[in-house]
Amino acid sequence: MGNKFSYHFHNLNSVLFMVEEINPYDVAKAQIDIVAKEMGLEKNIAEYLKRIERALIVTIPIIMDDGSLKIFEGYRVHHSTVRGPGKGGIRFSMEVTLDEVKALATWMTWKTSLLNLPLGGAKGGVRVDPRKLSFKELERLTRRYTAEIINVIGPDIDIPAPDINTNSQIMAWMMDVYSMQKGRSIPGVVTGKPVEIGGSVGREPATGMGMYYVLQALCEKMNLDLKSQRIVIQGLGNVGGTIADILYKEGCKILAVSDISTGIYCEDGLEIDKLLEWAKARNALIDYKNDNYKFITNHELLTTKCDVLIPSAIENQITQANADKIDCKIIVEGANGPTTPEADKVLFKKGIRVIPDILANSGGVCVSYFEYIQDINSYFWKLDRINAELKSIIIEAFEETYKISEERKIPLRTAAYIIAVSRIAKAIELRGFFP
Ligand code: NAD
Repeated sequence: MGNKFSYHFHNLNSVLFMVEEINPYDVAKAQIDIVAKEMGLEKNIAEYLKRIERALIVTIPIIMDDGSLKIFEGYRVHHSTVRGPGKGGIRFSMEVTLDEVKALATWMTWKTSLLNLPLGGAKGGVRVDPRKLSFKELERLTRRYTAEIINVIGPDIDIPAPDINTNSQIMAWMMDVYSMQKGRSIPGVVTGKPVEIGGSVGREPATGMGMYYVLQALCEKMNLDLKSQRIVIQGLGNVGGTIADILYKEGCKILAVSDISTGIYCEDGLEIDKLLEWAKARNALIDYKNDNYKFITNHELLTTKCDVLIPSAIENQITQANADKIDCKIIVEGANGPTTPEADKVLFKKGIRVIPDILANSGGVCVSYFEYIQDINSYFWKLDRINAELKSIIIEAFEETYKISEERKIPLRTAAYIIAVSRIAKAIELRGFFP
């Protein structure tokens, strides 16, 4: 793959860092090739899995507050519904492309399969910078996008959820549009909703909770004391912010964090509670004032010497260009697709254990599944039950993955893929090819 990619520099709020232009869908397909070879998957099935079932491209015209018209493009992709309805988030970002959504939908298929949830893989997105929209414009954009994709979503078809730059309010608007069109309240059409309208307790921190459970489990296997690990986290949103909060409260020293504006570092450890308050009030880290803290670039953040590195922002952050400079014991992939296959090889040689995205961040989809079945049954669980069932499902997947990885001496990612892809391949074999 190497020479297919070009490199260039982006100047982002005065932080200079290198961005590699890597197509995430190429990464997703390369990962299928790796696991197909390792497990001897039939060639036709491997080729089929590199395709998506369907993709919808929609045009979203919005009247802006000043009366002008702006036109946005949105997508919803189903990668596989062979084991159940599609499941996957909605992303609002200028970096959204059809290929990115295809890759993210593919990874969702592996994630739901690895956890053995009766769901498939889907994803959606709109190419928009939501920070440039007013609240009302954001609502209009969400409502029109939902109306455009209404025929491909539904509790037994495909159930969206939040992802980058989307949240429970956006899910509430999506649920409202769908329900108004169908003439009755249908909370099971999306997950990650506010609890007042059929959301689940424990959904918002679920991804971070799941990451914590699997990190704790891996530390036990490696005889490491979690509290004394030094942590670096890229991204301070729902995923990065939650795991930062959990590990800070656990007593870990968090050396560096970042958001889209900058990275921030302190050798003695950052005051995460204050930084989270700052970030939750929608402030950029670049504006945070503390003389003991140093601003660092994205590259510096990722290559900071630490014990646990937690990329929780976007794809393609650990690549051939920086993998040999990564200096940690464990990587926990909060983000989807943060590591390329070339980087995986380098990290494996260096002895760095990577808890792959499809396992590490699967707590989100796991509690989304709980939310969905609570909605369908109109019966809601208590937080203790949510967290206990989440822990039980994610730890079972971790143990299975770890066992295969040890037995075959392969990376945790390949082991997790073997489990996930085997279940999908079996379902395809049992159902056969229609007609
Ligand atoms: P979010 O919008 O809440 O937070 C994203 C964070 O990443 C922010 O701090 C933002 O400033 C930073 N960021 C965004 N673009 C960036 C860029 N180009 N460079 C550097 N930093 C950037 O999103 P989130 O829900 O926390 O999602 C983060 C990642 O976790 C994504 O890869 C997402 O697919 C994945 N994920 C999310 C969930 C979930 O439940 N929300 C579940 C599983 C996986």
